Amino acid sequence: MKFYSTNNKNHVADLKTAVLKGLAPDKGLYMPENIPVLPKSFWDWVPGRSMGEIGFEILKHFFCPDIPEDKFKEMVEDAFNFPVPVVKVNDQISSLELFHGPTLAFKDVGARFLARVMSYFADFGGKPINVLAATSGDTGSAVANGFLGVPNVYVHILYPSGLVSKLQELQFTTLGQNVTAYEVKGVFDDCQRMVKEAFMDADVNAQKVLTSANSINLARFLPQSVYYVHALAQIPQEKWKDLVICVPSGNFGDITAGLVAYKMGMPVKRFIAAVNANKVFPEFLASGDYKPQPSIHTLANAMDVGDPSNFARVFELFGRNVDELRKVVSSYSYTDDLIGKTITSVCDKFGYVCDPHGAVGFAALQDNLADGEVGLFLETAHPAKFIDTVEKFSGKKVEIPARLAKFLSGTKKSVAIENDYHNILSSLK
Ligand SMILES: *Cc1c(COP(=O)(O)O)cnc(C)c1O
Repeated sequence: MKFYSTNNKNHVADLKTAVLKGLAPDKGLYMPENIPVLPKSFWDWVPGRSMGEIGFEILKHFFCPDIPEDKFKEMVEDAFNFPVPVVKVNDQISSLELFHGPTLAFKDVGARFLARVMSYFADFGGKPINVLAATSGDTGSAVANGFLGVPNVYVHILYPSGLVSKLQELQFTTLGQNVTAYEVKGVFDDCQRMVKEAFMDADVNAQKVLTSANSINLARFLPQSVYYVHALAQIPQEKWKDLVICVPSGNFGDITAGLVAYKMGMPVKRFIAAVNANKVFPEFLASGDYKPQPSIHTLANAMDVGDPSNFARVFELFGRNVDELRKVVSSYSYTDDLIGKTITSVCDKFGYVCDPHGAVGFAALQDNLADGEVGLFLETAHPAKFIDTVEKFSGKKVEIPARLAKFLSGTKKSVAIENDYHNILSSLK
């Protein structure tokens, strides 16, 4: 399959180019040239299937035969190696728990898959690939752990010294192998600028392969469509037509993947994009005008985005027609006050502990489900990742899972550097 730029339908690239470049040269986002509609026989096959089985059947349409099917099947099985269960919260609402991966957030799904796709192209293109990622915390851990030990790919994480939490820092500084962490004297924006400057350095790029692993990369968001279909595999088929899927959203990569599955014929009723106080998207649905805003800091901080980078993809999927988009997607915003109250009430009434992001999703379903509808919200991170907030509002002690706790006993290893990108050049492969 070929991929076009959201800025220009006539600009097309093959899979390898789209994955290794991330962004199109005109700064547009790559989209699949066509989204196949899967037949009824496929949807009848879904119940009871695994992530790996569904992943292969969905994703082969986009990734094969650029990657041969037998090889691709192995990559998919290897990437989706942890459970994504649907857990009942009350009679009408269930949680899709996406936090059972190595770094306890849904970003593990995309990062693990992207790592394997990049490694495939590194193997067959010769040169090693350098993945550069600036992080303010969570992206660094998912990318570093997703790419850990992947042959011929080298990961370089840049993070602001003293400005990420201890636990976040340990998740990407204790790994070793093909992961190097640079502790930058500066702020997150310095790290991001250094990455951009490295990408723009023509001499460096003439000699080395540099790429990025953020959510604009199509091989990071597309694999996320698999868990939407895998959720159906766990829900009785007669309920699918009444199902409302609620996605806590920041950069809108996650909901884009759900909407791709919908365009492939996923037989569910509708979607909700639940947001925190950063409400550019619900305002857009109301007015038809897209007006980016500076981001506001909230309790659900992984969704603190004032100009969602995947907005162009969401709009593109509905032919850039806001009325068509409104038929399928609605959106609601929740303040920190309501996030806290939701964590409290869901725990008190139903004994389920939400993280602040999942709480936004639960609240939007609770307030907006109609009679006869059933709701599924994406629980995007483990409550232990936001332990202070969750313990405060739930009044419960949150256990730190062993795979998170194990980082606490690791030894931090980082390269302390000034905020100049030249300092990372000597470690590029
Ligand atoms: C990244 C993230 C989100 C937002 O996902 P998008 O794809 O950016 O919309 C929500 N919750 C958590 C915990 C995250 O880490």
